Amino acid sequence: MTKFLSVISQLISEDNILVLGHVMPDGDDISSVASLAEGLRRLGKKVRAAIDDQIPWYYKLFFAVDSIESFEQLQDFHPDLIVVVDCSSPDRVGRFQNLLKNSKTIVIDHHETNLMFGDLNFVDVTSASTAQIVYNMNKAMGVVYDPELATTNYLGLATDTGFFKYSNTDANVLKIAAELVELGAKPYFVASVILENKTPQQFKLLAKMIEHMKIEGELVYSWLSYEDYLSLGCNEDDSSGFVSELRSMKDIEVAILFTEFPKGEIHVSFRSKQWLNVSKIASALGGGGHARAAGCSYKNVELEKVIDEVLSLTREAMVGGRHEVG
Ligand code: AMP
Ligand code: MN
Ligand code: MN
Repeated sequence: MTKFLSVISQLISEDNILVLGHVMPDGDDISSVASLAEGLRRLGKKVRAAIDDQIPWYYKLFFAVDSIESFEQLQDFHPDLIVVVDCSSPDRVGRFQNLLKNSKTIVIDHHETNLMFGDLNFVDVTSASTAQIVYNMNKAMGVVYDPELATTNYLGLATDTGFFKYSNTDANVLKIAAELVELGAKPYFVASVILENKTPQQFKLLAKMIEHMKIEGELVYSWLSYEDYLSLGCNEDDSSGFVSELRSMKDIEVAILFTEFPKGEIHVSFRSKQWLNVSKIASALGGGGHARAAGCSYKNVELEKVIDEVLSLTREAMVGGRHEVG
Protein backbone atom coordinates (compact mmCIF):
# COMPACT_ATOMS: atom_id res chain seq x y z
CA MET A 1 0.00 0.00 0.00
CA THR A 2 1.37 3.46 -0.80
CA LYS A 3 2.03 5.92 2.02
CA PHE A 4 -0.83 8.08 0.72
CA LEU A 5 -3.28 5.18 1.01
CA SER A 6 -1.94 4.22 4.44
CA VAL A 7 -2.72 7.72 5.69
CA ILE A 8 -6.18 7.63 4.13
CA SER A 9 -6.98 4.26 5.67
CA GLN A 10 -5.82 5.42 9.14
CA LEU A 11 -7.91 8.59 8.86
CA ILE A 12 -10.94 6.58 7.78
CA SER A 13 -10.58 4.01 10.55
CA GLU A 14 -10.22 6.49 13.45
CA ASP A 15 -13.05 8.49 14.93
CA ASN A 16 -11.58 10.71 17.61
CA ILE A 17 -9.04 12.92 15.86
CA LEU A 18 -7.01 16.02 16.70
CA VAL A 19 -5.56 18.10 13.85
CA LEU A 20 -2.59 20.31 14.81
CA GLY A 21 -0.74 23.11 13.05
CA HIS A 22 2.38 25.13 13.82
CA VAL A 23 3.25 28.12 16.00
CA MET A 24 3.47 31.45 14.14
CA PRO A 25 0.83 30.01 11.78
CA ASP A 26 0.84 31.05 8.13
CA GLY A 27 -1.87 30.75 5.48
CA ASP A 28 -0.89 27.24 4.40
CA ASP A 29 -0.92 25.96 7.95
CA ILE A 30 -4.27 27.53 8.86
CA SER A 31 -5.79 26.38 5.56
CA SER A 32 -4.49 22.83 6.03
CA VAL A 33 -5.70 22.52 9.63
CA ALA A 34 -9.14 23.99 8.90
CA SER A 35 -9.66 22.06 5.64
CA LEU A 36 -8.59 18.68 6.98
CA ALA A 37 -10.57 19.07 10.20
CA GLU A 38 -13.68 20.18 8.28
CA GLY A 39 -13.23 17.37 5.73
CA LEU A 40 -13.07 14.75 8.49
CA ARG A 41 -16.09 16.32 10.20
CA ARG A 42 -18.02 16.00 6.95
CA LEU A 43 -17.25 12.29 7.06
CA GLY A 44 -19.03 12.15 10.43
CA LYS A 45 -15.97 12.01 12.68
CA LYS A 46 -15.40 13.61 16.04
CA VAL A 47 -12.64 16.08 15.22
CA ARG A 48 -10.98 18.96 17.00
CA ALA A 49 -8.36 21.29 15.60
CA ALA A 50 -5.79 23.42 17.39
CA ILE A 51 -2.83 25.75 17.02
CA ASP A 52 -0.79 26.84 20.05
CA ASP A 53 -0.54 30.48 18.98
CA GLN A 54 -2.58 33.51 18.01
CA ILE A 55 -4.30 33.37 14.64
CA PRO A 56 -4.08 36.75 12.84
CA TRP A 57 -7.56 38.34 12.62
CA TYR A 58 -7.89 38.29 8.83
CA TYR A 59 -7.59 34.47 8.66
CA LYS A 60 -10.74 34.31 10.79
CA LEU A 61 -12.67 35.65 7.80
CA PHE A 62 -12.27 32.17 6.25
CA PHE A 63 -14.76 29.38 6.80
CA ALA A 64 -13.90 26.77 9.49
CA VAL A 65 -10.96 28.76 10.87
CA ASP A 66 -13.05 29.69 13.92
CA SER A 67 -13.12 25.98 14.83
CA ILE A 68 -9.36 26.06 15.51
CA GLU A 69 -8.89 26.03 19.27
CA SER A 70 -6.10 26.99 21.67
CA PHE A 71 -3.88 24.78 23.82
CA GLU A 72 -5.92 25.69 26.91
CA GLN A 73 -9.22 24.66 25.26
CA LEU A 74 -7.86 21.20 24.45
CA GLN A 75 -6.83 20.20 27.98
CA ASP A 76 -9.47 17.51 28.46
CA PHE A 77 -9.48 16.02 24.98
CA HIS A 78 -7.85 12.61 24.52
CA PRO A 79 -7.64 11.85 20.82
CA ASP A 80 -7.06 8.39 19.35
CA LEU A 81 -5.11 9.94 16.51
CA ILE A 82 -3.21 13.22 16.06
CA VAL A 83 -2.60 14.60 12.58
CA VAL A 84 0.14 17.23 12.41
CA VAL A 85 0.13 19.36 9.26
CA ASP A 86 2.76 21.67 7.72
CA CYS A 87 5.27 21.02 10.56
CA SER A 88 8.86 19.91 9.92
CA SER A 89 9.68 19.09 13.55
CA PRO A 90 7.72 18.25 16.72
CA ASP A 91 8.62 21.54 18.48
CA ARG A 92 6.58 23.36 15.80
CA VAL A 93 3.33 22.34 17.54
CA GLY A 94 4.36 24.35 20.63
CA ARG A 95 3.04 23.01 23.94
CA PHE A 96 1.22 20.13 22.19
CA GLN A 97 4.62 18.47 21.70
CA ASN A 98 4.23 16.33 24.85
CA LEU A 99 0.89 15.02 23.62
CA LEU A 100 2.59 13.60 20.52
CA LYS A 101 4.64 11.19 22.64
CA ASN A 102 1.54 9.40 23.98
CA SER A 103 -0.61 9.29 20.84
CA LYS A 104 -0.56 7.73 17.43
CA THR A 105 0.63 10.52 15.12
CA ILE A 106 0.40 11.15 11.39
CA VAL A 107 2.55 13.89 9.84
CA ILE A 108 1.40 15.51 6.59
CA ASP A 109 3.91 18.01 5.26
CA HIS A 110 6.00 19.35 2.36
CA HIS A 111 9.24 20.57 4.04
CA GLU A 112 12.49 18.99 2.90
CA THR A 113 13.79 19.49 6.46
CA ASN A 114 11.04 17.27 7.91
CA LEU A 115 12.34 15.05 10.72
CA MET A 116 9.76 12.29 10.06
CA PHE A 117 8.62 12.43 13.69
CA GLY A 118 5.23 10.75 13.19
CA ASP A 119 4.29 7.07 13.37
CA LEU A 120 3.29 7.59 9.76
CA ASN A 121 4.77 10.41 7.68
CA PHE A 122 3.44 11.66 4.36
CA VAL A 123 5.99 14.28 3.32
CA ASP A 124 5.84 15.37 -0.30
CA VAL A 125 8.61 17.89 -0.92
CA THR A 126 7.41 18.37 -4.49
CA SER A 127 4.14 19.88 -3.21
CA ALA A 128 4.12 23.67 -3.22
CA SER A 129 1.78 23.66 -0.20
CA THR A 130 0.53 21.27 2.46
CA ALA A 131 -3.01 22.43 1.67
CA GLN A 132 -2.91 20.74 -1.75
CA ILE A 133 -1.96 17.41 -0.09
CA VAL A 134 -4.92 17.91 2.26
CA TYR A 135 -7.15 18.53 -0.76
CA ASN A 136 -5.96 15.30 -2.42
CA MET A 137 -6.65 13.40 0.81
CA ASN A 138 -10.09 14.92 1.31
CA LYS A 139 -10.92 14.12 -2.30
CA ALA A 140 -9.72 10.51 -1.93
CA MET A 141 -11.90 10.11 1.19
CA GLY A 142 -14.97 11.45 -0.65
CA VAL A 143 -15.33 14.76 1.22
CA VAL A 144 -17.96 16.96 -0.39
CA TYR A 145 -16.71 20.48 -1.15
CA ASP A 146 -18.82 23.64 -1.21
CA PRO A 147 -17.55 27.15 -2.09
CA GLU A 148 -16.71 27.92 1.58
CA LEU A 149 -14.50 24.85 2.10
CA ALA A 150 -12.98 25.29 -1.38
CA THR A 151 -12.00 28.90 -0.54
CA THR A 152 -10.45 27.90 2.81
CA ASN A 153 -8.50 25.11 1.10
CA TYR A 154 -7.39 27.40 -1.78
CA LEU A 155 -5.96 29.88 0.78
CA GLY A 156 -2.97 27.61 1.50
CA LEU A 157 -2.08 27.09 -2.16
CA ALA A 158 -2.19 30.83 -2.76
CA THR A 159 -0.18 31.94 0.27
CA ASP A 160 2.61 29.32 0.09
CA THR A 161 3.26 30.16 -3.58
CA GLY A 162 3.11 33.95 -3.02
CA PHE A 163 -0.07 33.95 -5.10
CA PHE A 164 1.41 31.67 -7.75
CA LYS A 165 4.67 33.47 -8.36
CA TYR A 166 7.37 31.76 -6.23
CA SER A 167 9.70 29.12 -7.67
CA ASN A 168 7.51 26.34 -6.20
CA THR A 169 4.63 27.31 -8.52
CA ASP A 170 4.16 24.39 -10.92
CA ALA A 171 1.46 22.76 -13.04
CA ASN A 172 0.34 20.61 -10.13
CA VAL A 173 -0.50 23.46 -7.75
CA LEU A 174 -2.14 25.41 -10.59
CA LYS A 175 -4.27 22.37 -11.55
CA ILE A 176 -5.45 21.87 -7.98
CA ALA A 177 -6.11 25.62 -7.66
CA ALA A 178 -8.23 25.38 -10.81
CA GLU A 179 -10.15 22.40 -9.37
CA LEU A 180 -10.83 24.36 -6.20
CA VAL A 181 -12.00 27.36 -8.22
CA GLU A 182 -14.34 25.02 -10.10
CA LEU A 183 -15.67 23.92 -6.71
CA GLY A 184 -16.41 27.55 -5.87
CA ALA A 185 -13.17 28.94 -4.32
CA LYS A 186 -12.94 32.72 -4.67
CA PRO A 187 -9.37 33.80 -5.67
CA TYR A 188 -10.21 37.49 -5.51
CA PHE A 189 -11.60 37.18 -1.98
CA VAL A 190 -8.45 35.36 -0.82
CA ALA A 191 -6.13 37.90 -2.47
CA SER A 192 -7.98 40.91 -1.12
CA VAL A 193 -8.20 39.58 2.45
CA ILE A 194 -4.51 38.63 2.57
CA LEU A 195 -2.92 41.36 0.46
CA GLU A 196 -5.16 44.39 0.81
CA ASN A 197 -5.72 44.69 4.52
CA LYS A 198 -2.58 46.53 5.64
CA THR A 199 -3.01 49.11 8.38
CA PRO A 200 -1.31 52.54 8.28
CA GLN A 201 0.88 51.32 11.19
CA GLN A 202 2.09 48.43 9.04
CA PHE A 203 3.25 50.90 6.39
CA LYS A 204 5.19 52.76 9.09
CA LEU A 205 6.70 49.47 10.25
CA LEU A 206 7.69 48.74 6.64
CA ALA A 207 9.36 52.16 6.47
CA LYS A 208 11.28 51.28 9.65
CA MET A 209 12.45 48.02 8.08
CA ILE A 210 13.63 49.92 5.00
CA GLU A 211 15.39 52.48 7.21
CA HIS A 212 17.38 49.68 8.92
CA MET A 213 18.15 47.86 5.68
CA LYS A 214 21.76 46.97 4.78
CA ILE A 215 23.11 45.64 1.50
CA GLU A 216 26.29 43.57 1.21
CA GLY A 217 26.81 42.40 -2.34
CA GLU A 218 24.04 39.88 -3.07
CA LEU A 219 22.84 39.87 0.53
CA VAL A 220 20.23 42.25 1.91
CA TYR A 221 19.10 42.21 5.52
CA SER A 222 17.14 44.27 7.99
CA TRP A 223 15.68 44.06 11.48
CA LEU A 224 12.80 45.21 13.61
CA SER A 225 13.30 45.37 17.36
CA TYR A 226 10.62 44.92 20.01
CA GLU A 227 10.87 48.69 20.62
CA ASP A 228 10.10 49.31 16.94
CA TYR A 229 6.91 47.23 17.17
CA LEU A 230 5.88 48.87 20.45
CA SER A 231 6.52 52.43 19.31
CA LEU A 232 4.24 51.89 16.28
CA GLY A 233 1.57 49.92 18.14
CA CYS A 234 2.33 46.83 16.02
CA ASN A 235 2.76 43.13 16.76
CA GLU A 236 4.74 40.35 15.04
CA ASP A 237 1.95 39.55 12.56
CA ASP A 238 2.22 43.06 11.18
CA SER A 239 5.57 42.30 9.52
CA SER A 240 4.32 39.16 7.79
CA GLY A 241 5.45 39.22 4.14
CA PHE A 242 8.04 41.99 4.69
CA VAL A 243 10.99 39.70 3.93
CA SER A 244 9.63 39.21 0.39
CA GLU A 245 9.94 42.96 -0.13
CA LEU A 246 13.66 42.67 0.65
CA ARG A 247 14.06 39.76 -1.76
CA SER A 248 12.40 41.78 -4.51
CA MET A 249 15.51 43.96 -4.80
CA LYS A 250 17.48 43.77 -8.04
CA ASP A 251 20.72 41.74 -8.06
CA ILE A 252 20.01 40.22 -4.62
CA GLU A 253 20.31 36.49 -3.97
CA VAL A 254 19.43 36.31 -0.29
CA ALA A 255 17.25 38.40 2.01
CA ILE A 256 17.12 38.05 5.79
CA LEU A 257 14.73 39.75 8.19
CA PHE A 258 15.29 39.63 11.96
CA THR A 259 12.20 40.35 14.04
CA GLU A 260 12.11 40.63 17.81
CA PHE A 261 8.74 40.09 19.47
CA PRO A 262 8.44 40.10 22.45
CA LYS A 263 11.76 41.25 23.96
CA GLY A 264 14.49 38.61 23.58
CA GLU A 265 12.43 36.37 21.22
CA ILE A 266 13.82 36.58 17.73
CA HIS A 267 12.55 35.10 14.51
CA VAL A 268 14.81 34.95 11.49
CA SER A 269 13.25 34.76 8.03
CA PHE A 270 15.43 33.74 5.10
CA ARG A 271 14.52 34.06 1.43
CA SER A 272 16.68 33.33 -1.62
CA LYS A 273 16.23 33.72 -5.34
CA GLN A 274 18.22 31.19 -7.33
CA TRP A 275 21.04 29.25 -5.82
CA LEU A 276 21.45 29.53 -2.04
CA ASN A 277 19.68 26.75 -0.13
CA VAL A 278 18.60 28.74 2.93
CA SER A 279 16.95 25.73 4.58
CA LYS A 280 20.46 24.40 5.26
CA ILE A 281 21.38 27.55 7.20
CA ALA A 282 18.06 27.61 9.07
CA SER A 283 18.39 23.89 9.95
CA ALA A 284 21.93 24.42 11.25
CA LEU A 285 20.41 27.03 13.60
CA GLY A 286 17.64 24.73 14.84
CA GLY A 287 14.96 25.84 12.38
CA GLY A 288 13.91 24.57 8.97
CA GLY A 289 11.96 25.30 5.82
CA HIS A 290 12.47 25.14 2.09
CA ALA A 291 15.39 25.92 -0.24
CA ARG A 292 14.01 29.38 -1.06
CA ALA A 293 12.16 30.17 2.21
CA ALA A 294 13.26 29.13 5.66
CA GLY A 295 13.32 30.33 9.23
CA CYS A 296 14.57 29.78 12.76
CA SER A 297 13.73 31.19 16.17
CA TYR A 298 15.63 32.16 19.32
CA LYS A 299 14.63 32.84 22.92
CA ASN A 300 16.38 34.94 25.58
CA VAL A 301 19.01 36.45 23.34
CA GLU A 302 20.13 39.87 22.22
CA LEU A 303 19.12 40.90 18.74
CA GLU A 304 22.67 42.03 17.84
CA LYS A 305 24.09 38.62 18.79
CA VAL A 306 21.60 36.79 16.58
CA ILE A 307 22.27 39.17 13.68
CA ASP A 308 26.04 38.58 13.98
CA GLU A 309 25.72 34.79 14.20
CA VAL A 310 23.27 34.46 11.31
CA LEU A 311 25.16 36.85 9.05
CA SER A 312 28.48 35.10 9.53
CA LEU A 313 26.92 31.69 8.76
CA THR A 314 25.16 33.13 5.72
CA ARG A 315 28.30 34.85 4.38
CA GLU A 316 30.14 31.53 4.78
CA ALA A 317 27.39 29.65 2.92
CA MET A 318 27.44 32.23 0.14
CA VAL A 319 31.18 31.96 -0.49
CA GLY A 320 31.51 29.51 -3.33
CA GLY A 321 27.85 28.55 -2.92
CA ARG A 322 27.01 29.96 -6.32
CA HIS A 323 28.20 26.77 -8.01
CA GLU A 324 25.99 24.61 -5.88
CA VAL A 325 22.39 25.25 -6.94
CA GLY A 326 20.25 23.85 -4.15
P1 AMP B 1 8.94 32.38 7.60
O1 AMP B 1 10.23 33.04 7.24
O2 AMP B 1 8.64 32.41 9.04
O3 AMP B 1 7.83 32.85 6.71
O4 AMP B 1 9.13 30.83 7.27
C1 AMP B 1 9.59 30.35 6.04
C2 AMP B 1 9.58 28.84 6.05
O5 AMP B 1 10.45 28.34 7.04
C3 AMP B 1 8.22 28.21 6.31
O6 AMP B 1 8.11 27.08 5.49
C4 AMP B 1 8.27 27.81 7.75
O7 AMP B 1 7.50 26.70 8.01
C5 AMP B 1 9.75 27.52 7.98
N1 AMP B 1 10.15 27.93 9.34
C6 AMP B 1 10.10 29.18 9.83
N2 AMP B 1 10.53 29.20 11.11
C7 AMP B 1 10.84 27.95 11.44
C8 AMP B 1 11.32 27.31 12.64
N3 AMP B 1 11.58 28.00 13.76
N4 AMP B 1 11.51 25.96 12.60
C9 AMP B 1 11.27 25.26 11.49
N5 AMP B 1 10.82 25.80 10.32
C10 AMP B 1 10.60 27.11 10.30
MN1 MN C 1 3.74 26.91 7.27
MN1 MN D 1 3.60 25.15 3.95
